Amino acid sequence: MAPSEHDPAAGEIEFVLVLNSGSSSIKFQVLDPSADAHEEPFITGIVEKIGEPKGHIKIATATTKMEDSRPILSHSVGLERAFGMMSLLGCGPQDLNLIAVGHRVVHGGATFSEPVLIDDKMVAEIEKLVPLAPLHNPANIDGIKNARALLGHVPHVAVFDTAFFSTLPEHAAHYGLNKEVADKYNIRRYGFHGTSHEFVSRAVPKIMGREPEKINQITLHLGNGASAAAIRGGEAIDTSMGLTPLAGLVMGTRTGDIDPSVIFHLARAGGMKVDEIDNLFNRNSGLKGIAGVNDFREIKELIDQGDHDATLAYEIYIHQLRRFIGSYMLILGHTDAITFTAGVGENAAFVRKDAMADLEGFGIKIDEDRNLNKEGVEGPRVISTDDSKIKVFVVPTNEELAIAQYAMELAEQ
Ligand code: ADP
Repeated sequence: MAPSEHDPAAGEIEFVLVLNSGSSSIKFQVLDPSADAHEEPFITGIVEKIGEPKGHIKIATATTKMEDSRPILSHSVGLERAFGMMSLLGCGPQDLNLIAVGHRVVHGGATFSEPVLIDDKMVAEIEKLVPLAPLHNPANIDGIKNARALLGHVPHVAVFDTAFFSTLPEHAAHYGLNKEVADKYNIRRYGFHGTSHEFVSRAVPKIMGREPEKINQITLHLGNGASAAAIRGGEAIDTSMGLTPLAGLVMGTRTGDIDPSVIFHLARAGGMKVDEIDNLFNRNSGLKGIAGVNDFREIKELIDQGDHDATLAYEIYIHQLRRFIGSYMLILGHTDAITFTAGVGENAAFVRKDAMADLEGFGIKIDEDRNLNKEGVEGPRVISTDDSKIKVFVVPTNEELAIAQYAMELAEQ
């Protein structure tokens, strides 16, 4: 169990603050990087609706919580106020043995293939990548600057969503786009959710009791955003997201792969502007754009009521998922394991069942009771039958813990 803020032992534990700064919100956790993956973080917090008329901050520990619903003018005001609330609860940054701050940074471009200690030079390098991720990196950089201003006494570490995919072979990383243009604008497949794919894929050989170098696997991060990765001997060799997180699988609100000419068509025939199309593809498509809802619990309810659009949205989602799984099996040559993770992958047994249906001929057999988790196992678990040649797993992801572990490693160097 996580220690409470009244626990004197809390002062002995080395904690890491993990920050995920978005455009209008900041999510954070204070956690012990050497804790088990299923342990609750010591503190979780969210600063929401920054810059909107009604702001909201919520801080929770294992024993107590505090909320504040005043307007929040800026990210720095929100973070400072959140730290103040933590102090009132007796667990402010100055009360804890904080050894590092880990920052989630969405785009590391071709510059960052691993986590880095942040200094002014690194911030400038991350700033150079803003054109590649105009929606994400500015907020991440803002978070880094604010946190360094408030917590200048501890090392700060940036962990990039793209870094795990820096090993993609050239033929998987590059598109069939004119090379001069691709080079000029740094257009290639970068991949995202890398921290999660890496965390989960590292757990698999341990569960199987085999050497990581000998395992070929497919990891499926199915959350609101969704991506697939093909991993050979611990190194990613393909992934479904691309220059941005829009590509690949159908997602909660994103199209996933779509004929690029749809953009030209919407511009020419529909008179739509680039920003409108961007918004349509990223925020108003996918499950939500077809079924009207993007939460799988609601999709399931609608399907059970016979709703046509929800059924169609679900069938498109599963179809696209199976296309990626199939192509990755071929690319890998032989596959040892397929793993489901994130909100949908961990909780929606029906998605796992349908994604893996009728694949006995390919050596994949799901055990229904294991898939339904009748025994209520919390951590990683196998859902394939004992005689399934390819093992299928559910491994809960924990990106914050992974970021905290990297931050600790780099802070100790
Ligand atoms: P994010 O990509 O925002 O981090 P998550 O990985 O937390 O998202 O996944 C959120 C999604 O997980 C929800 O939108 C919902 O579709 C799905 N989900 C969460 N819990 C369940 C559940 N018990 N059953 C089915 N789907 C679930």
